[in-house]
Amino acid sequence: MDLVVTAAKRPEAGETLLGEKFYTSPGGKGANQAVAAARLGAEVHMIGRVGDDEFGSDLLKFLEKENILLNGVEPVTGSASGVAMITLAEGDNSIIVYQGANKETTRDYVRNFESLIAKSDVVITQLEIPIESVEETARLCQKHQTKFILNPAPAADLLVDLLMKTDFITPNHSERETLSKQVDLNKLLDKLIITEGKDGVVYFENEAPRRILSHSVTAVDTTGAGDTFNGAFAYAIGIKKDVETACHFANAAAALSVQKLGAQAGMPTKEEVNEFLR
Ligand code: ADP
Repeated sequence: MDLVVTAAKRPEAGETLLGEKFYTSPGGKGANQAVAAARLGAEVHMIGRVGDDEFGSDLLKFLEKENILLNGVEPVTGSASGVAMITLAEGDNSIIVYQGANKETTRDYVRNFESLIAKSDVVITQLEIPIESVEETARLCQKHQTKFILNPAPAADLLVDLLMKTDFITPNHSERETLSKQVDLNKLLDKLIITEGKDGVVYFENEAPRRILSHSVTAVDTTGAGDTFNGAFAYAIGIKKDVETACHFANAAAALSVQKLGAQAGMPTKEEVNEFLR
């Protein structure tokens, strides 16, 4: 659950400021990306955990309303749901994520859903769950020849072995910086899709970078821009679009999403994206 406060500036260490607005909004990278893909018309199954608190039951209700199939989401008894404390100030966000029940999306938990992974067109994971569970997901995708997209967010230490098992890796600008310190990105060019905020997205064709510029829109809230991009990209790859087409589509979906407050509020339907691209 996102707990958001807007303020004129972000506080220094030791400083207390009065905020302007406060709201809660359903979030989490996995859930956001699931919503983005479902709004576009994908059949989305979520694998993850919520706490047995009020946030947890609210989150399940929100996801259900978005037509996301929730057999893979079991509440954890005695655990708080994951939360993100978000400060929106000076046109950008600062975020602290508390994992809570997400930690219980363990390797064994993921294994329970092998048959679901096997019959999926595409699986996308983020790094708000334990890395070993991401590695297990990658292994299961490889075993069953399911396309696997890794959104390496928030940035973390990753093994080359995991990166090599992906079909696509979708860092934003700063996650790309972190990745480049861990591995020679030249070895991953055919997998890399780098989102660069208002500068659009970069992918590689025969090792040469290709940039798709972002759309010129008035950004009200960029929280969830990357999630919209990822959900839309996964949807497009799932329906067998090529990388270029998938990037174009996701770039447009993300441009629509930044025009509303809240990570999920601006996520468009397929019709809205097609209309925008016309
Ligand atoms: P994250 O939200 O993970 O930091 P980015 O900031 O790179 O990710 O944004 C993801 C995508 O969202 C970009 O590649 C672009 O398509 C779109 N986007 C982000 N900010 C804007 C903006 N100000 N105007 C238009 N599109 C944007």
